[in-house]
Amino acid sequence: ELLPATEESRPRSVRVNTIKVTKEAAISRLQADFGSLEPDGLLDDVLILPSSCALHDHPWVKNGSLILQSKASCMPAQALSPEPGWTVLDCCAAPGNKTTHLAARLGNIGKVIAVDRDPVRFKRLKDNAKLAGATCIQCIQDDFLKLPLDTAQFSSVDAVLLDPSCSGSGTAHNQVDRLLSPTDEVDCGRLESLAAFQEKALRHAFKLPKLKRLVYSTCSSHSIEGEEVIEKVMPLANQLGFHLEGPFPSWHRRGHKQFPDGKLMVRADAKLDRTDGFFLALFSKTDLENGIG
Ligand code: SAM
Repeated sequence: ELLPATEESRPRSVRVNTIKVTKEAAISRLQADFGSLEPDGLLDDVLILPSSCALHDHPWVKNGSLILQSKASCMPAQALSPEPGWTVLDCCAAPGNKTTHLAARLGNIGKVIAVDRDPVRFKRLKDNAKLAGATCIQCIQDDFLKLPLDTAQFSSVDAVLLDPSCSGSGTAHNQVDRLLSPTDEVDCGRLESLAAFQEKALRHAFKLPKLKRLVYSTCSSHSIEGEEVIEKVMPLANQLGFHLEGPFPSWHRRGHKQFPDGKLMVRADAKLDRTDGFFLALFSKTDLENGIG
């Protein structure tokens, strides 16, 4: 069996923080420093560099102009495509890679409400938002499930990014000590409790009164944290006037085939796609123009 590509053998991906620099400027700078790179074919602001490039100490990484972020992890904000001026709620936000990506896609115009309950991770979220120059981010340290989403405080939210805690099975290759561990087997009880939280969080997000678009993502390879969560919530979503959109139609890997809506969902495979194992689904409100739903 193929082993996942390790961090060492994989191409590096960086996201250009377009709040601070243009993609063209980033290409010039990285070309000057490393010679070769290519823009990612799918994601607007992602550049791919050879695995040998040492980027952690690069001045543009240190000053927040470039964000070290896997290609898969850059998919949700582009799939959601919020428009400048929108208010986006990032429900499980720390350390904030997707939060700052959302802010960049808004052109820093509008608002990203970024929620996380973990105090240590929350500090990293605030630090990362500051480093990225993303002044449109408002950080709230709280339990997302306890937020009164159906009150006036949240009535301006147009879109949601929900990237809840998950097993991380798609990124297990990053955890060197887990890569070859004989004890690396699936803990079903843990998966079930994570899936229960993911479903609860998704149902909670659908309480937002003015919601137009919602992206759900996990870095898990297990369908219990992906397709199955979506399937369980689908009746509620349909009842509220949402349908599944099929983002990234040119991307080859879709949700698992045994699920009727699988082809509308997006997956990345850690072994085959040279990025993190990942799952993504995008809900969109049906027939917005006519105010139906
Ligand atoms: N979206 C983040 C990013 O791209 O940088 C990664 C999010 S991580 C997968 C999940 C986060 O959810 C963790 O930081 C965790 O503290 C947070 N979390 C878990 N349960 C939560 C809850 N009930 N309310 C708020 N945050 C929660």
